[in-house]
Amino acid sequence: MNCPICGKPTKWQDNPHRPFCSERCQLIDFGKWADEEYRVPTAIDHSSEHTERDHPLPTDEEHEP
Ligand SMILES: [Zn+2]
Repeated sequence: MNCPICGKPTKWQDNPHRPFCSERCQLIDFGKWADEEYRVPTAIDHSSEHTERDHPLPTDEEHEP
């Protein structure tokens, strides 16, 4: 069994970080998953556009000299 991060051979017995060889590789793999979660596209742009139409800014009404 090799570490899926660095490719080094890992031992399964008495290895709390399996299938990774060390805690470092375990954290790297966890970081990859967290990074992919942030990249998931959301509909934030569409929702904000919709909110702007519902609540237009009263720029013309506050036009006093
Ligand atoms: Zn490793």
